[in-house]
Amino acid sequence: MTASNNQQTDFQALMRSLEAARGQSIHLTTAQLLTWTSGIFQRAGLSDKDATTMARTCVYPERDGAKSHGLFRVPNYLDALTAGNVNINPNITIVQETPSLLVVDADNGLAQPALQTVQTQLIQKTRETGLCALLLRRAYHIAALWMDVEPLAKQGFVALTCVNASSFVAPAPGASAVYGTNPMAFACPREGHEPLVFDQASSLRARGDVQLAALDGEAVPVGTGLNQKGEPTQDPKAILEGGTLLPFGGYKGASIAMMVEILAAALTGGQFSWEIERWNQPTPESASAGQFLLCIDPTVAGQTQFAHRIQELALKLLTSGQSRLPGDQRYTARALADKEGIEVDTELLLSWFERTDSGKHTSTTGR
Ligand code: NDP
Repeated sequence: MTASNNQQTDFQALMRSLEAARGQSIHLTTAQLLTWTSGIFQRAGLSDKDATTMARTCVYPERDGAKSHGLFRVPNYLDALTAGNVNINPNITIVQETPSLLVVDADNGLAQPALQTVQTQLIQKTRETGLCALLLRRAYHIAALWMDVEPLAKQGFVALTCVNASSFVAPAPGASAVYGTNPMAFACPREGHEPLVFDQASSLRARGDVQLAALDGEAVPVGTGLNQKGEPTQDPKAILEGGTLLPFGGYKGASIAMMVEILAAALTGGQFSWEIERWNQPTPESASAGQFLLCIDPTVAGQTQFAHRIQELALKLLTSGQSRLPGDQRYTARALADKEGIEVDTELLLSWFERTDSGKHTSTTGR
């Protein structure tokens, strides 16, 4: 039996389990959820390889408790793929290359398969020259960004990345959106531990979290956004329907959003956030956006004790009042999911199957 036949058998077995438990929540292993989600992405037209990549992109955040970029995003991807607003068979090309630079055009395909395509070159150049900057343009990126850097840190590298998105964030002070939620993620190795990782939007709240608050009927924290009239509000719907998000930390966060815009759009040759066309409401976040990724090899810089030094820093922080390090919450959730599985709503998973039946596709923001 081929790997593909095995996958199909596993998918069908999962289908029977989900049908049997329809309407209930059940626990699946990460591997099972990857099989199901990958099968769904294949039904939406992706190749086996890209479907696996995109399943990881949605399942790993769910496993890590980062719900705003977990299974919640699958319908957004299905909408974008089945509506033809993301290129399913992109011609991913390296348009410019030096010993420490890769400029890549994703041809309006998904960002994660494009990153996979040039991963070998990125690592090779980093090892050879000590660093490599990857400038990716025309990509669809609505995922959690830590996934683009954590695997590099596991290989001993320091990695920094940022991506721009359709504009939803006002400058500070400001009344109308200019920036995307423009996240930035950083990762590096830490001796004896999982990599040290932070990953944060330039807005006080990621848009996905505001969408989840709207679905759950919950208020968002003060400072999250403004309503259509430019007035501060804690009502997530008022922010999403004609209002705007605000950067974290006032003008300081706004400057971070500005830097992300410069690195991810101006430097990559991509579009500024306000130029990104919102083709596919309500799932437009990052169609044709840009991404900047810098990968550095500390050993080429002569820092053979780098991971040890990071552990010294971590210990200093933890003995100086910091209750936890960024990334710790995800790693804790990951360990629990590895032990107990991931709780999933069977209706939700079956709804993906139904919406990928040809001709039955509908656009929705629902979970
Ligand atoms: P959060 O505010 O939830 O967390 C930001 C960072 O701070 C995380 O690394 C988190 O670690 C860390 N952190 C949180 N609380 C503490 C604490 N008490 N002490 C130390 N560290 C802490 O993230 P955001 O809401 O800003 O972003 C959520 C996600 O949305 C990100 O993954 C981001 O990439 C994604 N996003 C993607 C976009 C796109 O277009 N692709 C656009 C905007 C956002 P931990 O994870 O362990 O909690």
